[in-house]
Amino acid sequence: MVQILQLADYQIVIGDFWQNFKGFLNQKNYTKIFVLVDENTETHCFERVKEHFPQDNTQLIRTHSGELEKNLATCQVIWKALFDGGANRNALFVNLGGGVIGDMGGFCASTFKRGIDFIQMPTTLLSMVDSSIGGKLGIDFYQVKNSIGVFANPKRVFISTDFLTTLSPREIKSGFAEIIKHALIQDGAQWHKLLIINDLATVNWNEYLIPSLKIKQRIVEIDPFEKGLRKALNFGHTIGHAVESMALETDNPLTHGEAIAIGMICEAYLSKTCLPEGKILRGMPDSDLQAITQFILKHYGKYDIQSFDRQRLIALMMQDKKNETAAINFSLLNKIGDVEVNCTANVELIEESLEYYLGL
Ligand code: NAD
Repeated sequence: MVQILQLADYQIVIGDFWQNFKGFLNQKNYTKIFVLVDENTETHCFERVKEHFPQDNTQLIRTHSGELEKNLATCQVIWKALFDGGANRNALFVNLGGGVIGDMGGFCASTFKRGIDFIQMPTTLLSMVDSSIGGKLGIDFYQVKNSIGVFANPKRVFISTDFLTTLSPREIKSGFAEIIKHALIQDGAQWHKLLIINDLATVNWNEYLIPSLKIKQRIVEIDPFEKGLRKALNFGHTIGHAVESMALETDNPLTHGEAIAIGMICEAYLSKTCLPEGKILRGMPDSDLQAITQFILKHYGKYDIQSFDRQRLIALMMQDKKNETAAINFSLLNKIGDVEVNCTANVELIEESLEYYLGL
């Protein structure tokens, strides 16, 4: 049994998708299939499902897991494997993994010989609800996350929550941050459904996946290239990305979702306070800030960002590619379920939001 979300030029197939996958392969007649994995997705995912891939013309490309591997050096390894494996324009590239595999593998596939077909087979909660749709692909460069990349859509996305059985609780929590974000920016009713979640280990993710995917689908279809509305998805990410980048340099790196959770608290604070120029915003109600703060703290606890150099954090926010001008661009909330893009906040206010987090 599968459910299908139809986007303008590709489908997301959710559920027990292997029959659909077989039909897709039969229809396309690819010369060779390359499957990108890291050591975890090779063991926990590929080994479990390898009988669904044609035995005679499937080749694994192995990388090491982790955000630090999402770089140009790894891309070179991948491109080289494609050349050595005899990939031509009729080859298929499969990203079997989390957001790192999906972003980097998609980038490599869509630049190899000016682009070969690729599909996303996400294996983390985060990649299922977020990174595998919307066509943003890329790698980290010059210590700036996702700063080199392209927009390109997969031929299809295949999602099965069966893969989540081996995912660590910490990675489940990481993906949950994007589910929270989707509700906060566009769906107040979904937010109320999330509030009843106490223990992430007992959640049936199938219930939350489709509503969350639909929010992202709606947004990316209206604005595929992030000219306007799509920036809504950046709620929590301007500060979150900067925190994530700095945490990566420490002995205690944060997952993407953990960093975004911090970013959402800080940016909720800005939402309450910030009055963007030229926009009639009354500021998000304090009760919404309290609700967001309490819910996120309940699930994520508090991280120690005290030692992070403030100047560097702000500098990282300014490098964020979403900024078209010198001002730091934010997507903020008018209220829960209602986002406003292209808001700006000055450095003083951003520092105040970090103080708010530190003071919790
Ligand atoms: P990840 O890809 O690093 O995966 C997390 C860890 O889980 C890795 O160690 C991985 O090997 C392991 N893993 C994956 N699937 C597993 C499974 N089924 N069982 C056991 N272990 C498994 O992290 P992520 O959170 O999936 O993705 C984060 C990345 O996604 C970041 O680079 C972020 O920038 C990117 N991202 C992209 C978009 C987009 O629109 N393209 C959106 C959000 C995030």
